Amino acid sequence: MSEDETLFERVIAGEIPADVVYQDETTFAFRDIRPQARVHVLVVPRKRYRNLGELAAGDPGLLADVALAARKVAESEGILESGYRVVFNTDSDAGQTVFHVHAHVLGGEPLGLFGAPDED
Ligand code: AMP
Repeated sequence: MSEDETLFERVIAGEIPADVVYQDETTFAFRDIRPQARVHVLVVPRKRYRNLGELAAGDPGLLADVALAARKVAESEGILESGYRVVFNTDSDAGQTVFHVHAHVLGGEPLGLFGAPDED
């Protein structure tokens, strides 16, 4: 992996196996390897931005593509009516570990509260 390459670029390139649930020209979606809910899918723009703010500033149309892909994933996962949560972690206090912006699409069951400090 080159210095600038992220894990998700390798997933998108097919170099790391993933359970792909949706893809189109601009986005790529696959199941999170450590699911935090019954449905937990990551939606990643093929073009890399570091986080939500950089994506919104750099390519608002691509951010809209990510939001629409999240909705398509919710539809194909059967959670469009029951509801779902979309989360973008940004930097360390939020626990961002992969610096290629991605939406977590969570649902499939009632979700707990979020935003509480880590207990550790
Ligand atoms: P974040 O902490 O917001 O940067 O989210 C990164 C997410 O990527 C975490 O929820 C990880 O469980 C997930 N993840 C890491 N490696 C993989 C992988 N190879 N396939 C699928 N999900 C992964």
